[in-house]
Amino acid sequence: MYDFVVVGGGPAGYPAAIRAAQLDAKVLLVEKDELGGTCLNVGCIPSKLYLHAASMAFEIERARQSGLEGDFSIAPDKLRAHKEATIARLKKGIESLLMANKIRLAHETAIFLDEKTLQVGAERIKAEHFLIATGSSPLVPPIQGIAQQGVWTSTEALELKNVPKTLVIVGAGFVGLEMAMVYKALGSRVTLVDMLPRLLPMLDADMAALMERSLKAKGISLVLGARLVRIEPGPRPVFLKEGKEEAFLSDAVLLAIGRTPNLFGLERLPLGPADKGIFVNEGLQTRISNIYAAGDVTGRTFLAHAATHQGILAAENALGGENALDLENLPVPNCLYTDPEAAWVGLSETKAKERFGDVRTGTYLYGALGRALASNEPLGKIKVIANSKDGKILGAQIVGKAATEIIHEATLAMSAGITLSGIAAAVHAHPSFSEGIKEACLEALGTPLHKAPR
Ligand SMILES: Cc1cc2nc3c(=O)[nH]c(=O)nc-3n(C[C@H](O)[C@H](O)[C@H](O)COP(=O)(O)OP(=O)(O)OC[C@H]3O[C@@H](n4cnc5c(N)ncnc54)[C@H](O)[C@@H]3O)c2cc1C
Repeated sequence: MYDFVVVGGGPAGYPAAIRAAQLDAKVLLVEKDELGGTCLNVGCIPSKLYLHAASMAFEIERARQSGLEGDFSIAPDKLRAHKEATIARLKKGIESLLMANKIRLAHETAIFLDEKTLQVGAERIKAEHFLIATGSSPLVPPIQGIAQQGVWTSTEALELKNVPKTLVIVGAGFVGLEMAMVYKALGSRVTLVDMLPRLLPMLDADMAALMERSLKAKGISLVLGARLVRIEPGPRPVFLKEGKEEAFLSDAVLLAIGRTPNLFGLERLPLGPADKGIFVNEGLQTRISNIYAAGDVTGRTFLAHAATHQGILAAENALGGENALDLENLPVPNCLYTDPEAAWVGLSETKAKERFGDVRTGTYLYGALGRALASNEPLGKIKVIANSKDGKILGAQIVGKAATEIIHEATLAMSAGITLSGIAAAVHAHPSFSEGIKEACLEALGTPLHKAPR
Protein backbone atom coordinates (compact mmCIF):
# COMPACT_ATOMS: atom_id res chain seq x y z
CA MET A 1 0.00 0.00 0.00
CA TYR A 2 1.41 3.36 -1.05
CA ASP A 3 0.68 6.71 0.58
CA PHE A 4 0.82 8.63 -2.70
CA VAL A 5 0.81 7.41 -6.30
CA VAL A 6 1.46 9.82 -9.14
CA VAL A 7 0.35 9.03 -12.68
CA GLY A 8 2.51 10.94 -15.17
CA GLY A 9 6.17 11.91 -14.91
CA GLY A 10 6.00 15.41 -16.44
CA PRO A 11 6.51 18.81 -14.74
CA ALA A 12 3.35 18.33 -12.64
CA GLY A 13 4.01 14.71 -11.67
CA TYR A 14 7.67 14.22 -10.80
CA PRO A 15 8.02 17.34 -8.58
CA ALA A 16 4.84 16.25 -6.77
CA ALA A 17 6.40 12.82 -6.17
CA ILE A 18 9.56 14.46 -4.77
CA ARG A 19 7.55 16.77 -2.51
CA ALA A 20 5.51 13.83 -1.18
CA ALA A 21 8.72 11.88 -0.48
CA GLN A 22 10.11 14.90 1.39
CA LEU A 23 7.00 14.65 3.57
CA ASP A 24 7.92 11.01 4.35
CA ALA A 25 5.28 9.42 2.14
CA LYS A 26 5.80 6.06 0.43
CA VAL A 27 5.60 7.12 -3.20
CA LEU A 28 5.18 5.45 -6.59
CA LEU A 29 5.50 7.36 -9.87
CA VAL A 30 4.02 5.74 -12.98
CA GLU A 31 5.14 6.99 -16.40
CA LYS A 32 4.14 5.19 -19.58
CA ASP A 33 6.53 6.98 -21.86
CA GLU A 34 9.46 9.23 -21.03
CA LEU A 35 10.28 10.98 -17.77
CA GLY A 36 9.98 14.75 -18.07
CA GLY A 37 6.74 14.50 -20.09
CA THR A 38 5.85 16.86 -22.91
CA CYS A 39 8.02 19.64 -21.51
CA LEU A 40 11.33 17.81 -21.57
CA ASN A 41 10.78 15.54 -24.56
CA VAL A 42 8.56 17.34 -27.07
CA GLY A 43 7.91 20.79 -25.60
CA CYS A 44 9.78 23.44 -23.61
CA ILE A 45 13.31 22.09 -23.80
CA PRO A 46 13.62 21.01 -27.45
CA SER A 47 11.81 24.16 -28.60
CA LYS A 48 14.04 26.42 -26.49
CA LEU A 49 17.17 24.66 -27.70
CA TYR A 50 16.17 25.26 -31.34
CA LEU A 51 15.09 28.81 -30.52
CA HIS A 52 18.47 29.50 -29.01
CA ALA A 53 20.08 28.58 -32.33
CA ALA A 54 17.48 30.61 -34.24
CA SER A 55 17.94 33.69 -32.03
CA MET A 56 21.70 33.44 -32.39
CA ALA A 57 21.30 33.36 -36.16
CA PHE A 58 19.12 36.48 -36.08
CA GLU A 59 21.50 38.14 -33.62
CA ILE A 60 24.54 37.40 -35.76
CA GLU A 61 22.79 39.09 -38.67
CA ARG A 62 22.19 42.16 -36.49
CA ALA A 63 25.71 41.99 -35.09
CA ARG A 64 27.20 42.70 -38.52
CA GLN A 65 26.59 46.33 -37.55
CA SER A 66 28.89 45.78 -34.56
CA GLY A 67 31.66 44.52 -36.79
CA LEU A 68 31.07 40.77 -36.78
CA GLU A 69 31.99 39.30 -40.15
CA GLY A 70 31.93 35.93 -41.86
CA ASP A 71 29.37 33.34 -42.92
CA PHE A 72 27.59 30.76 -40.83
CA SER A 73 24.87 28.19 -41.27
CA ILE A 74 22.74 25.96 -39.05
CA ALA A 75 23.18 22.21 -39.51
CA PRO A 76 19.81 20.61 -38.62
CA ASP A 77 21.40 17.16 -37.97
CA LYS A 78 23.81 18.60 -35.41
CA LEU A 79 21.06 20.65 -33.83
CA ARG A 80 18.91 17.51 -33.48
CA ALA A 81 21.82 15.57 -31.96
CA HIS A 82 22.41 18.41 -29.48
CA LYS A 83 18.71 18.33 -28.57
CA GLU A 84 18.80 14.59 -27.96
CA ALA A 85 21.92 14.81 -25.78
CA THR A 86 20.41 17.65 -23.75
CA ILE A 87 17.16 15.78 -23.17
CA ALA A 88 19.08 12.65 -22.13
CA ARG A 89 21.15 14.66 -19.66
CA LEU A 90 18.13 16.31 -18.05
CA LYS A 91 16.26 12.98 -17.92
CA LYS A 92 19.17 11.38 -16.09
CA GLY A 93 18.97 14.23 -13.59
CA ILE A 94 15.29 13.47 -12.89
CA GLU A 95 16.01 9.74 -12.55
CA SER A 96 18.74 10.43 -9.97
CA LEU A 97 16.45 12.75 -8.04
CA LEU A 98 13.74 10.09 -7.89
CA MET A 99 16.26 7.54 -6.68
CA ALA A 100 17.77 9.89 -4.11
CA ASN A 101 14.27 10.51 -2.74
CA LYS A 102 13.51 6.74 -2.66
CA ILE A 103 10.61 7.05 -5.09
CA ARG A 104 9.72 3.90 -6.99
CA LEU A 105 9.42 4.51 -10.74
CA ALA A 106 7.25 2.19 -12.85
CA HIS A 107 7.60 2.53 -16.61
CA GLU A 108 4.06 1.34 -17.36
CA THR A 109 0.66 2.61 -18.43
CA ALA A 110 -1.57 3.26 -15.42
CA ILE A 111 -5.28 2.42 -15.57
CA PHE A 112 -7.60 3.22 -12.66
CA LEU A 113 -9.80 0.26 -11.69
CA ASP A 114 -11.52 2.24 -8.93
CA GLU A 115 -10.65 5.20 -6.68
CA LYS A 116 -8.18 3.21 -4.58
CA THR A 117 -6.82 0.74 -7.16
CA LEU A 118 -4.56 1.24 -10.12
CA GLN A 119 -3.53 -1.33 -12.71
CA VAL A 120 0.16 -0.75 -13.43
CA GLY A 121 1.29 -3.24 -16.06
CA ALA A 122 0.68 -6.67 -14.50
CA GLU A 123 0.50 -5.24 -10.97
CA ARG A 124 -2.51 -4.03 -8.96
CA ILE A 125 -1.53 -1.11 -6.78
CA LYS A 126 -3.48 0.20 -3.79
CA ALA A 127 -2.93 3.69 -2.39
CA GLU A 128 -4.44 6.22 -0.02
CA HIS A 129 -4.02 9.16 -2.38
CA PHE A 130 -3.40 9.63 -6.09
CA LEU A 131 -2.33 12.48 -8.31
CA ILE A 132 -3.44 12.51 -11.93
CA ALA A 133 -0.75 14.35 -13.87
CA THR A 134 -1.30 12.80 -17.28
CA GLY A 135 -0.80 16.03 -19.22
CA SER A 136 -2.07 16.84 -22.68
CA SER A 137 -1.57 16.10 -26.38
CA PRO A 138 -1.72 18.30 -29.48
CA LEU A 139 -5.27 19.11 -30.56
CA VAL A 140 -6.00 17.85 -34.06
CA PRO A 141 -9.33 19.16 -35.43
CA PRO A 142 -11.59 16.71 -37.26
CA ILE A 143 -11.40 18.37 -40.65
CA GLN A 144 -10.93 17.02 -44.15
CA GLY A 145 -7.37 16.19 -45.18
CA ILE A 146 -5.88 16.40 -41.69
CA ALA A 147 -4.42 12.87 -41.79
CA GLN A 148 -1.96 13.23 -44.65
CA GLN A 149 1.78 13.32 -44.95
CA GLY A 150 3.25 16.72 -44.34
CA VAL A 151 0.65 17.73 -41.75
CA TRP A 152 2.52 18.12 -38.48
CA THR A 153 1.82 18.77 -34.86
CA SER A 154 4.50 20.35 -32.64
CA THR A 155 5.87 16.85 -31.98
CA GLU A 156 6.75 16.26 -35.65
CA ALA A 157 8.00 19.84 -36.04
CA LEU A 158 10.45 19.26 -33.19
CA GLU A 159 11.76 16.05 -34.76
CA LEU A 160 13.46 18.28 -37.32
CA LYS A 161 13.56 15.48 -39.88
CA ASN A 162 13.37 17.88 -42.79
CA VAL A 163 13.24 21.59 -43.38
CA PRO A 164 10.34 22.34 -45.76
CA LYS A 165 10.80 25.05 -48.38
CA THR A 166 7.39 26.46 -47.46
CA LEU A 167 5.73 26.00 -44.09
CA VAL A 168 2.21 27.12 -43.19
CA ILE A 169 1.61 27.31 -39.45
CA VAL A 170 -1.99 27.25 -38.24
CA GLY A 171 -2.26 29.09 -34.92
CA ALA A 172 -0.18 32.09 -33.81
CA GLY A 173 0.00 31.23 -30.11
CA PHE A 174 3.11 30.21 -28.17
CA VAL A 175 3.91 27.12 -30.24
CA GLY A 176 3.06 28.67 -33.60
CA LEU A 177 5.14 31.80 -33.03
CA GLU A 178 8.13 29.92 -31.64
CA MET A 179 8.14 27.38 -34.46
CA ALA A 180 7.79 30.19 -37.02
CA MET A 181 11.08 31.62 -35.68
CA VAL A 182 12.85 28.26 -35.73
CA TYR A 183 11.87 27.32 -39.28
CA LYS A 184 12.47 30.84 -40.58
CA ALA A 185 16.01 30.70 -39.20
CA LEU A 186 16.45 27.27 -40.81
CA GLY A 187 15.50 28.74 -44.17
CA SER A 188 11.80 27.93 -44.67
CA ARG A 189 9.36 30.44 -46.13
CA VAL A 190 6.90 30.72 -43.25
CA THR A 191 3.26 31.82 -43.26
CA LEU A 192 1.58 32.10 -39.88
CA VAL A 193 -2.22 32.04 -39.89
CA ASP A 194 -4.61 32.67 -37.01
CA MET A 195 -8.38 32.91 -36.81
CA LEU A 196 -8.27 35.82 -34.34
CA PRO A 197 -8.34 39.35 -35.75
CA ARG A 198 -5.32 40.39 -33.64
CA LEU A 199 -1.98 38.86 -32.73
CA LEU A 200 -1.48 37.90 -29.05
CA PRO A 201 -4.69 39.33 -27.53
CA MET A 202 -3.31 38.87 -23.99
CA LEU A 203 -0.84 41.67 -24.75
CA ASP A 204 -1.94 45.31 -24.97
CA ALA A 205 -2.25 46.44 -28.58
CA ASP A 206 0.93 48.59 -28.42
CA MET A 207 2.98 45.59 -27.25
CA ALA A 208 1.46 43.14 -29.75
CA ALA A 209 2.16 45.64 -32.53
CA LEU A 210 5.89 45.37 -31.75
CA MET A 211 5.74 41.60 -32.17
CA GLU A 212 3.86 42.00 -35.43
CA ARG A 213 6.44 44.46 -36.68
CA SER A 214 9.30 42.13 -35.88
CA LEU A 215 7.62 39.16 -37.62
CA LYS A 216 7.19 41.25 -40.75
CA ALA A 217 10.79 42.48 -40.58
CA LYS A 218 11.95 38.85 -40.60
CA GLY A 219 9.84 38.09 -43.65
CA ILE A 220 7.33 35.88 -41.82
CA SER A 221 3.91 36.39 -43.40
CA LEU A 222 1.10 36.85 -40.93
CA VAL A 223 -2.52 36.25 -41.94
CA LEU A 224 -5.12 37.11 -39.29
CA GLY A 225 -8.86 36.46 -39.17
CA ALA A 226 -8.59 33.27 -41.25
CA ARG A 227 -10.02 29.89 -40.21
CA LEU A 228 -8.70 26.57 -41.49
CA VAL A 229 -11.53 24.71 -43.26
CA ARG A 230 -9.74 21.77 -44.91
CA ILE A 231 -6.37 20.62 -46.16
CA GLU A 232 -6.33 19.55 -49.80
CA PRO A 233 -3.75 17.05 -51.07
CA GLY A 234 -0.32 18.64 -51.22
CA PRO A 235 -0.74 19.54 -48.37
CA ARG A 236 -2.65 22.63 -49.45
CA PRO A 237 -4.42 24.28 -46.51
CA VAL A 238 -7.59 26.20 -47.31
CA PHE A 239 -8.70 29.05 -45.03
CA LEU A 240 -11.91 31.06 -44.82
CA LYS A 241 -11.26 34.79 -44.50
CA GLU A 242 -13.97 37.42 -44.73
CA GLY A 243 -16.34 34.93 -46.37
CA LYS A 244 -13.84 33.93 -49.09
CA GLU A 245 -11.72 30.78 -49.35
CA GLU A 246 -7.99 31.20 -49.75
CA ALA A 247 -5.57 28.30 -50.38
CA PHE A 248 -1.86 28.34 -49.59
CA LEU A 249 0.88 26.38 -51.30
CA SER A 250 3.01 24.54 -48.77
CA ASP A 251 5.44 21.67 -48.29
CA ALA A 252 4.31 21.19 -44.71
CA VAL A 253 1.48 22.40 -42.47
CA LEU A 254 2.02 22.71 -38.74
CA LEU A 255 -1.11 22.57 -36.58
CA ALA A 256 -0.54 24.68 -33.48
CA ILE A 257 -4.09 25.29 -32.37
CA GLY A 258 -3.97 24.08 -28.80
CA ARG A 259 -3.87 20.95 -26.66
CA THR A 260 -6.32 18.43 -25.29
CA PRO A 261 -6.14 16.62 -21.90
CA ASN A 262 -4.85 13.00 -21.75
CA LEU A 263 -7.72 11.00 -20.24
CA PHE A 264 -6.66 7.46 -21.11
CA GLY A 265 -6.77 5.18 -18.05
CA LEU A 266 -9.21 7.44 -16.19
CA GLU A 267 -12.40 6.13 -17.83
CA ARG A 268 -13.67 4.27 -14.74
CA LEU A 269 -13.41 7.28 -12.42
CA PRO A 270 -16.47 9.55 -11.94
CA LEU A 271 -14.48 12.72 -12.65
CA GLY A 272 -17.30 14.54 -14.48
CA PRO A 273 -17.04 16.06 -17.97
CA ALA A 274 -13.32 16.31 -18.75
CA ASP A 275 -12.91 16.98 -22.47
CA LYS A 276 -11.66 20.50 -21.59
CA GLY A 277 -9.83 19.31 -18.48
CA ILE A 278 -10.55 17.49 -15.24
CA PHE A 279 -12.40 19.59 -12.67
CA VAL A 280 -10.36 20.39 -9.55
CA ASN A 281 -11.28 22.63 -6.63
CA GLU A 282 -8.89 25.27 -5.26
CA GLY A 283 -7.14 22.51 -3.29
CA LEU A 284 -6.47 20.61 -6.56
CA GLN A 285 -8.87 17.88 -5.45
CA THR A 286 -11.00 16.20 -8.13
CA ARG A 287 -14.62 15.20 -7.54
CA ILE A 288 -13.17 12.12 -5.79
CA SER A 289 -11.79 13.17 -2.42
CA ASN A 290 -8.58 11.05 -2.40
CA ILE A 291 -7.67 11.85 -6.02
CA TYR A 292 -5.95 15.09 -6.98
CA ALA A 293 -5.05 16.43 -10.43
CA ALA A 294 -2.47 18.95 -11.58
CA GLY A 295 -0.98 20.38 -14.75
CA ASP A 296 -2.27 20.37 -18.31
CA VAL A 297 -4.83 17.63 -17.61
CA THR A 298 -6.84 20.17 -15.58
CA GLY A 299 -7.10 22.35 -18.71
CA ARG A 300 -6.30 25.52 -16.77
CA THR A 301 -2.87 26.81 -17.71
CA PHE A 302 -0.82 24.94 -20.28
CA LEU A 303 2.53 25.93 -18.79
CA ALA A 304 5.22 23.78 -17.21
CA HIS A 305 5.92 26.05 -14.23
CA ALA A 306 2.18 26.31 -13.48
CA ALA A 307 1.99 22.49 -13.65
CA THR A 308 4.85 22.16 -11.17
CA HIS A 309 3.33 24.71 -8.80
CA GLN A 310 0.01 22.84 -8.87
CA GLY A 311 1.67 19.42 -8.48
CA ILE A 312 3.52 20.52 -5.35
CA LEU A 313 0.42 22.08 -3.77
CA ALA A 314 -1.57 18.92 -4.58
CA ALA A 315 1.05 16.62 -3.01
CA GLU A 316 1.08 18.72 0.16
CA ASN A 317 -2.72 18.75 0.33
CA ALA A 318 -2.97 14.98 -0.22
CA LEU A 319 -0.68 14.55 2.79
CA GLY A 320 -2.62 16.81 5.12
CA GLY A 321 -1.86 20.32 3.86
CA GLU A 322 -4.43 23.03 3.28
CA ASN A 323 -3.13 24.98 0.29
CA ALA A 324 -5.60 26.86 -1.85
CA LEU A 325 -4.71 27.81 -5.41
CA ASP A 326 -5.96 31.29 -6.30
CA LEU A 327 -5.55 30.98 -10.05
CA GLU A 328 -7.23 34.35 -10.71
CA ASN A 329 -4.68 36.29 -8.70
CA LEU A 330 -1.54 34.12 -8.73
CA PRO A 331 1.12 35.95 -10.73
CA VAL A 332 2.26 33.39 -13.32
CA PRO A 333 4.77 34.63 -15.89
CA ASN A 334 4.03 33.83 -19.55
CA CYS A 335 7.09 33.71 -21.75
CA LEU A 336 7.56 33.62 -25.51
CA TYR A 337 11.12 32.73 -26.46
CA THR A 338 10.89 34.33 -29.88
CA ASP A 339 13.17 36.99 -31.35
CA PRO A 340 12.47 39.44 -29.80
CA GLU A 341 11.23 37.69 -26.70
CA ALA A 342 7.92 38.62 -25.10
CA ALA A 343 6.81 38.09 -21.51
CA TRP A 344 3.91 39.17 -19.40
CA VAL A 345 2.51 38.65 -15.94
CA GLY A 346 -0.70 39.69 -14.23
CA LEU A 347 -3.12 42.08 -15.89
CA SER A 348 -2.64 43.97 -19.14
CA GLU A 349 -3.30 47.72 -19.05
CA THR A 350 -6.63 47.12 -20.81
CA LYS A 351 -7.78 44.45 -18.31
CA ALA A 352 -6.49 46.43 -15.31
CA LYS A 353 -8.55 49.47 -16.42
CA GLU A 354 -11.62 47.26 -16.83
CA ARG A 355 -11.16 45.88 -13.31
CA PHE A 356 -9.85 48.88 -11.37
CA GLY A 357 -10.84 51.91 -13.45
CA ASP A 358 -7.94 54.23 -12.82
CA VAL A 359 -4.47 52.64 -13.01
CA ARG A 360 -0.94 53.97 -13.23
CA THR A 361 1.26 52.86 -16.10
CA GLY A 362 4.85 53.54 -17.01
CA THR A 363 6.76 52.50 -20.11
CA TYR A 364 10.36 52.49 -21.25
CA LEU A 365 11.70 51.84 -24.72
CA TYR A 366 14.71 49.63 -25.43
CA GLY A 367 15.81 52.34 -27.85
CA ALA A 368 16.70 54.48 -24.80
CA LEU A 369 18.36 51.66 -22.86
CA GLY A 370 22.16 51.62 -22.94
CA ARG A 371 22.47 47.84 -22.62
CA ALA A 372 19.95 47.26 -25.42
CA LEU A 373 21.73 49.63 -27.79
CA ALA A 374 25.17 48.24 -26.91
CA SER A 375 23.77 44.79 -27.73
CA ASN A 376 22.20 45.89 -31.01
CA GLU A 377 18.74 45.15 -29.65
CA PRO A 378 16.87 48.46 -29.99
CA LEU A 379 13.42 46.94 -30.63
CA GLY A 380 11.60 46.53 -27.35
CA LYS A 381 9.37 48.07 -24.74
CA ILE A 382 8.66 47.57 -21.07
CA LYS A 383 5.34 48.44 -19.49
CA VAL A 384 4.37 48.26 -15.82
CA ILE A 385 0.81 48.59 -14.64
CA ALA A 386 0.05 49.47 -11.02
CA ASN A 387 -2.89 50.20 -8.77
CA SER A 388 -3.15 53.99 -8.50
CA LYS A 389 -4.35 53.77 -4.88
CA ASP A 390 -1.44 51.89 -3.32
CA GLY A 391 1.14 51.57 -6.12
CA LYS A 392 1.03 47.76 -6.03
CA ILE A 393 2.06 46.15 -9.30
CA LEU A 394 -0.93 44.67 -11.16
CA GLY A 395 0.94 43.49 -14.22
CA ALA A 396 3.89 43.93 -16.55
CA GLN A 397 4.44 43.35 -20.25
CA ILE A 398 7.79 43.25 -21.97
CA VAL A 399 8.77 42.78 -25.60
CA GLY A 400 12.50 42.68 -26.26
CA LYS A 401 15.78 40.97 -25.50
CA ALA A 402 15.85 39.18 -22.12
CA ALA A 403 12.12 39.77 -21.55
CA THR A 404 11.72 36.18 -20.31
CA GLU A 405 14.28 36.82 -17.58
CA ILE A 406 13.51 40.35 -16.44
CA ILE A 407 9.76 39.61 -16.17
CA HIS A 408 10.63 37.90 -12.88
CA GLU A 409 11.33 41.24 -11.22
CA ALA A 410 7.68 42.19 -11.75
CA THR A 411 6.53 38.65 -10.84
CA LEU A 412 8.43 38.79 -7.55
CA ALA A 413 7.11 42.30 -6.85
CA MET A 414 3.54 41.07 -7.40
CA SER A 415 4.05 37.97 -5.23
CA ALA A 416 5.61 39.96 -2.40
CA GLY A 417 3.38 43.05 -2.67
CA ILE A 418 6.30 45.32 -3.62
CA THR A 419 5.11 48.65 -5.01
CA LEU A 420 6.27 50.97 -7.80
CA SER A 421 8.32 52.94 -5.24
CA GLY A 422 9.78 49.71 -3.85
CA ILE A 423 11.15 48.74 -7.26
CA ALA A 424 12.26 52.31 -8.00
CA ALA A 425 14.16 52.48 -4.68
CA ALA A 426 16.22 49.36 -5.48
CA VAL A 427 19.62 49.92 -7.08
CA HIS A 428 19.68 48.37 -10.56
CA ALA A 429 22.92 47.61 -12.38
CA HIS A 430 23.94 49.84 -15.26
CA PRO A 431 23.85 49.01 -18.05
CA SER A 432 21.24 46.28 -17.81
CA PHE A 433 17.89 45.35 -19.32
CA SER A 434 16.38 45.37 -15.80
CA GLU A 435 17.07 49.10 -15.56
CA GLY A 436 14.16 49.51 -17.97
CA ILE A 437 11.78 48.15 -15.32
CA LYS A 438 12.99 50.72 -12.82
CA GLU A 439 12.66 53.49 -15.44
CA ALA A 440 9.10 52.35 -16.26
CA CYS A 441 8.23 52.42 -12.54
CA LEU A 442 9.70 55.91 -12.22
CA GLU A 443 7.53 57.07 -15.08
CA ALA A 444 4.44 55.53 -13.47
CA LEU A 445 5.33 57.46 -10.30
CA GLY A 446 5.50 60.70 -12.31
CA THR A 447 9.26 61.15 -11.85
CA PRO A 448 10.84 59.70 -15.01
CA LEU A 449 14.62 60.03 -15.02
CA HIS A 450 15.80 59.30 -18.56
CA LYS A 451 12.58 60.36 -20.24
CA ALA A 452 10.87 63.72 -20.52
CA PRO A 453 7.90 64.01 -18.12
CA ARG A 454 4.50 63.20 -19.68
C1 LIG B 1 6.19 22.81 -28.39
C2 LIG B 1 5.88 23.13 -26.95
C3 LIG B 1 6.63 24.08 -26.28
C4 LIG B 1 6.35 24.38 -24.96
N1 LIG B 1 7.11 25.33 -24.34
C5 LIG B 1 6.84 25.65 -23.07
C6 LIG B 1 7.63 26.61 -22.39
O1 LIG B 1 8.58 27.16 -22.95
N2 LIG B 1 7.33 26.91 -21.11
C7 LIG B 1 6.27 26.33 -20.48
O2 LIG B 1 6.02 26.65 -19.33
N3 LIG B 1 5.50 25.41 -21.08
C8 LIG B 1 5.77 25.05 -22.37
N4 LIG B 1 5.01 24.10 -22.97
C9 LIG B 1 3.91 23.47 -22.21
C10 LIG B 1 4.45 22.39 -21.27
O3 LIG B 1 5.17 21.43 -22.00
C11 LIG B 1 3.30 21.73 -20.54
O4 LIG B 1 2.50 22.72 -19.93
C12 LIG B 1 3.81 20.78 -19.46
O5 LIG B 1 4.58 19.75 -20.03
C13 LIG B 1 2.63 20.16 -18.70
O6 LIG B 1 3.11 19.30 -17.73
P1 LIG B 1 2.23 18.08 -17.21
O7 LIG B 1 3.07 17.37 -16.20
O8 LIG B 1 0.89 18.55 -16.83
O9 LIG B 1 2.00 17.12 -18.49
P2 LIG B 1 3.01 16.42 -19.47
O10 LIG B 1 4.29 17.12 -19.55
O11 LIG B 1 2.25 16.21 -20.74
O12 LIG B 1 3.31 15.01 -18.78
C14 LIG B 1 2.32 14.03 -18.64
C15 LIG B 1 2.98 12.67 -18.58
O13 LIG B 1 2.00 11.70 -18.23
C16 LIG B 1 2.24 10.50 -18.93
N5 LIG B 1 0.98 9.74 -18.96
C17 LIG B 1 -0.18 10.10 -19.54
N6 LIG B 1 -1.13 9.16 -19.31
C18 LIG B 1 -0.54 8.18 -18.58
C19 LIG B 1 -0.99 6.94 -18.04
N7 LIG B 1 -2.27 6.53 -18.19
N8 LIG B 1 -0.10 6.16 -17.38
C20 LIG B 1 1.19 6.57 -17.18
N9 LIG B 1 1.66 7.76 -17.67
C21 LIG B 1 0.81 8.53 -18.35
C22 LIG B 1 2.69 11.00 -20.31
O14 LIG B 1 3.43 10.00 -20.98
C23 LIG B 1 3.54 12.22 -19.93
O15 LIG B 1 4.90 11.88 -19.79
C24 LIG B 1 5.28 23.73 -24.30
C25 LIG B 1 4.53 22.76 -24.95
C26 LIG B 1 4.81 22.46 -26.27
C27 LIG B 1 4.00 21.40 -26.96
